[in-house]
Amino acid sequence: MIKIDNMSLEEIKEFLKSLGEESYRGEQIYKWIFSRGVDNFEDMTDISKSLRGKLSDCSEFTKIEILEKIESRKDGSIKALFSFEDGEKIETVVLKDGNRNTLCISTQVGCRMGCSFCSTAKIGFKRDLTSAEILKQVIVMNRLLEEKGDKVTNIVYMGMGEPLDNIENVMRSLSILTDENGLGFSHRKVTVSTSGRVDNIDKIFSLKKPVNLAVSLNATTDSTRSEIMPVNRKFGIAELVGKLRELPLQKRKRITIEYVMLRGINDTIDDAKRIIHIVKGLPVKINLILYNPTIDSIYKPSTEESALKFQKYLTDRNFTVFIRKSYGSDIDGACGQLYAKYKKM
Ligand code: SF4
Repeated sequence: MIKIDNMSLEEIKEFLKSLGEESYRGEQIYKWIFSRGVDNFEDMTDISKSLRGKLSDCSEFTKIEILEKIESRKDGSIKALFSFEDGEKIETVVLKDGNRNTLCISTQVGCRMGCSFCSTAKIGFKRDLTSAEILKQVIVMNRLLEEKGDKVTNIVYMGMGEPLDNIENVMRSLSILTDENGLGFSHRKVTVSTSGRVDNIDKIFSLKKPVNLAVSLNATTDSTRSEIMPVNRKFGIAELVGKLRELPLQKRKRITIEYVMLRGINDTIDDAKRIIHIVKGLPVKINLILYNPTIDSIYKPSTEESALKFQKYLTDRNFTVFIRKSYGSDIDGACGQLYAKYKKM
């Protein structure tokens, strides 16, 4: 059976035409699904009963349920383990920071990129998420917040999976997410993060409403980066940065450079010096992320002292550098950790 919530507006219109129906009804149906978050035909009250019947005979909605939900007592962050129809599971997290509620969504079950510091990598790659499965994370988590009189303010494609490794479904989800008749989310508040799939980076910039880009750098030499991020063996630092320089960035848009700080691996002042050389001339802001280790981690987080020194070295040279708090450390904030725990149960 066709999943109607995996379709773009144009595809819904085509689908209606194929059923011998007026295509303009597509706009109404599209709004019901994405703007109002309805997941059954019965609730589409301005659609005739006969059309609703016809649609439910040959199409259906993607099902997703929350299997487990943990709320941080420290900072109010919420982590949810979702389950899909085929039994596969993914994690989604809302990171709370003052008035900002950043939703971190997954794009794949597992990941094939194999970063050695990442819990998701240990799961291996299971499958891509559909665009409906990506968007349902937003709809469901936003509803959870609305029940508390709150809402999602920012969205990052930074959960389980490499977004640019599932480019078609990610692009479709981004178009619907930022479409005013879709989920209506501001494209300025949406960020896609990549480990460095250089071959697909510019596709993100072909969207009608371009979103923000974050790149996980995490090392300043090819040898270290290839060791901790195997993607670097295919697309080295020079190639990655070369691609970033070609991107048609809008005025005042900056690329976020993500840098997970691993003690003794990538956190020296020499690394900070090399970062300056790597990003020279690029409009960037740098996020230093304090590593959140799991029980079986082979790495330790950098000390606060070395993170502060690293930050100071860069800010003294006019870079914008944030140290990202280890959000929700009591709820296993890093991606893949709740999933891993669940698998062991
Ligand atoms: S850090 Fe991201 S890209 Fe790397 S293995 Fe984990 S989920 Fe995949």
